[in-house]
Amino acid sequence: MAVRVLIVEDEEQIARFTELELKHEGYEVSKAADGRTGLAMAEEGGFDIILLDIMLPELNGLEVLRRLRKSSDVPVIMLTARDSVMDKVSGLDSGADDYVTKPFAIEELLARIRVSLKKHSGSKTAEEESVITFGPLKMNTAAYSVTVNGEPIELSKREFDLLSILLKNRNIVLSRDTLLGKVCGYDYFGETNVIDVYVRHVRSKIDEPYGLNMIQTVRGVGYVIKDE
Ligand code: CA
Repeated sequence: MAVRVLIVEDEEQIARFTELELKHEGYEVSKAADGRTGLAMAEEGGFDIILLDIMLPELNGLEVLRRLRKSSDVPVIMLTARDSVMDKVSGLDSGADDYVTKPFAIEELLARIRVSLKKHSGSKTAEEESVITFGPLKMNTAAYSVTVNGEPIELSKREFDLLSILLKNRNIVLSRDTLLGKVCGYDYFGETNVIDVYVRHVRSKIDEPYGLNMIQTVRGVGYVIKDE
């Protein structure tokens, strides 16, 4: 059965584009162009995931989410304007599962939808969920351990978090902003180049000693871990 998605977005162009891409991927899509309609549709139920813009007429997205959470734990991904850190913090505080910064790459949105749906369905066992294998690399997120060719690698907490986010989004380019939010927290206000520093550290431990090139730089965009 098709996964049902509700898009609550007043910018017609974004709503339409997202709808087309999601339909192309086999999702069943409904749309609402204001907060009040979106809330009513969401409360009626029947959706597997909701994409919720924050700046909406009638009721804003945060208010929609706050009210919806009284009766529903459906996964919600917030669509936020670029660099509005407060929106991200408030969204996550109000019970959003994730957020995507506009303008977003459709691949990133699709990946986040998959992750949210998977988290929500909890269909995998804890053991399956915690082991990620990627070529010669093996990560156990429960045991906080990483090996390359079976050799244990020492990573700091943030290096580990960075690598785990890249691995969970393999072959998808993640922006520095996205990585920064995930690794340092959505309320991090320091230098954004800390991500470059962590990437350098992780590469020096998992790539360079083994002559590998798993973590790659996408100039002007961010980073990706890629099957070679
Ligand atoms: Ca809007």
